Amino acid sequence: MIRIVLSSVRGFCSGVRRAVAMALEESEHAANGVFILHDLVHNDAVVRNLKSRGVTIVNSPAGLPAGSTLIFSAHGVSDALEREARSLPLTVKDATCPLVKRVHGLAADRHREGRFILLAGKRGHCETEGILGRVPPGCARLLETAEEASAFVPDPKLRYVLLSQTTFLASGFERIAEILKARIPDLQVERTICPATSDRQEAVRRLASSCGAVAVVGSPESSNSRRLCESARAAGAAAYLMSESSPVPEELRSFSGTLGLISGASASEEEVRNVLEHLLELPGAEFAGEFR
Ligand code: SF4
Repeated sequence: MIRIVLSSVRGFCSGVRRAVAMALEESEHAANGVFILHDLVHNDAVVRNLKSRGVTIVNSPAGLPAGSTLIFSAHGVSDALEREARSLPLTVKDATCPLVKRVHGLAADRHREGRFILLAGKRGHCETEGILGRVPPGCARLLETAEEASAFVPDPKLRYVLLSQTTFLASGFERIAEILKARIPDLQVERTICPATSDRQEAVRRLASSCGAVAVVGSPESSNSRRLCESARAAGAAAYLMSESSPVPEELRSFSGTLGLISGASASEEEVRNVLEHLLELPGAEFAGEFR
């Protein structure tokens, strides 16, 4: 038998809700075509819905039709990309989450104060590219793991500040900070993981401590959803990333016990409900209510 409990912490975070509302509004009213620079948010269902409304995802502002609308994704863009887009004959709309914008501002301010930026984040992710691109080349360094932090050799002539991608794993960030502080006594540490991320990481830990397995609704590209799976596993539960269009993981077909259901910040409430319905099709599955 499978008892499914649903976390009360689920659905879009405020930054995703704002970005999706902006893109839907533009898709209805912009007259000359709507383009989004990179996926608006890392969620397949959201991107599919926008594409079905005629929105096109692009990787560069270059070559877009004059008079069209270009939207920056919730993950933000680098200074160079922003300047390029604003120099073109486009209507630019900025859906960057205000909490990502805050990290852009912090990186630029600390750079102006003479500090070298160390950023805990995922290599190649749009958000980290955008933050690193808010200071001149050579003035910031990305550290993805504790091993990379251990291998980092600080320059005694420089002063450093440590920031993080907003969706980084809190425990991973503290570990990196601890390693760096041991070698950089005057390291400035700015905790820039956003509240939506830390609240969900706390919620998934609580959920995992009372469940044998946890299903996290989110797309594989979603950094915060993958971190929720890592947090659930660290708390001792099996964890599976699911979306409304993916099949139920094979392992859950033979699972018996309590299964927790939670979502990443870019999965809608509707997608969570759809995944719940798929899970309820498993033999012996029943919905046990909301987990607070
Ligand atoms: S996860 Fe945090 S930083 Fe990212 S969009 Fe949501 S609120 Fe903003």
